[in-house]
Amino acid sequence: MQTMAEKGIYVHVPFCARKCQYCDFHSVVADETFVGSYFDAFEQELLVRSREAAADSFDTLFIGGGTPSILTISRLDRLLRMLTSSFTFSSSAEITVEVNPSSLSLAKLRCLRSWGVNRLSMGVQSFEPNLLEALGRLHTVEQVFQSLRSARQVGFDNISMDLMFGLPDQTMAQWQATLATAVQLGIQHLSAYALILEEATPFYRWAQQGLLALPDEDTEACMFETTMQYLPDHGMPQYEISNYARLGCESQHNMLYWTGKPYLALGSGAAGYWRGRRYVNTKDMALYVSGWQNHAATETLELEEFPNRYQQMDEYMMTGMRLLRGIHGPTFAKRFGMAISEAYPAQLQRLLERNLVQWTADGYLQLTYAGRVLGNHVFSAWLR
Ligand code: SF4
Repeated sequence: MQTMAEKGIYVHVPFCARKCQYCDFHSVVADETFVGSYFDAFEQELLVRSREAAADSFDTLFIGGGTPSILTISRLDRLLRMLTSSFTFSSSAEITVEVNPSSLSLAKLRCLRSWGVNRLSMGVQSFEPNLLEALGRLHTVEQVFQSLRSARQVGFDNISMDLMFGLPDQTMAQWQATLATAVQLGIQHLSAYALILEEATPFYRWAQQGLLALPDEDTEACMFETTMQYLPDHGMPQYEISNYARLGCESQHNMLYWTGKPYLALGSGAAGYWRGRRYVNTKDMALYVSGWQNHAATETLELEEFPNRYQQMDEYMMTGMRLLRGIHGPTFAKRFGMAISEAYPAQLQRLLERNLVQWTADGYLQLTYAGRVLGNHVFSAWLR
């Protein structure tokens, strides 16, 4: 792995060209006038947050969404200009932008590159046209290939793709073919997520009405296990429960989340953890805009809390156990003033007995193979 990043910035761009059928991420379809007002307000937030971090240097910047790549070139240009001139970044900072193949162009890619963006996270989901259509995605398979060619043409050599399994009517053979295609494309990083039926999405409603032919639990588990075997066998080790990368290409930004490091967050709906303070910006876009226009920063918060030591520990365990290498016992003890076995005696014993976690010779508590398959039982076990 690369040197560990210590601090990062997450920017949420809450706009999409159309809502996908399964999506409950915070994003809306909006016209240019509203997008303009939103970014005027965003610049106010950026000014305030950059003052909070005037003495800090950041190792990662992640612009996600929503769909950042639907922004016009001039807006992308202004956004990156503002971010790179308002914050200090280390010379090797990982700068990622989430892109969708349907809204990417050579000119946008050149713009991103010119501001030092060095990593793309592409929302692909599937290489099956019928599945893309069922998901409500706007792009075609050919657009994925074209986006990749264009990205490489302008110099991107660190590209991640998101893929989904457990989709309606998706077969094992289709998922295997999807993984094989991703590997053949020579990308550096892959996130593979199971479909989750989120309330308030069309997919949830249709599933309730029996209108979605979802793979059964065994097939979905088989898809997950196939992923865990196929990708490492093809040069992409699993380093987190849903993430695979060529060596040295692990997501530095996401590592911040999984290892309890601080990150600023900007934009409606964004969640940050900065100087011991956890905050979530409001998802109410009108409130976000009016709040920042009126310089009433506190009105724009949906949540603000200072987690106590036990809450911090729980979160550290819940997120850290997602990493395949696990949690380093001595590091935990140094950070929280007690050993994992002292903080979670019953939970730890139960998970060890069920062979879901194990200690390594060099002091890491990590998931066993069975623990990876039943990950959710392990992640939730630490919550008090
Ligand atoms: S593009 Fe992404 S954020 Fe936008 S609606 Fe689809 S899944 Fe949600």
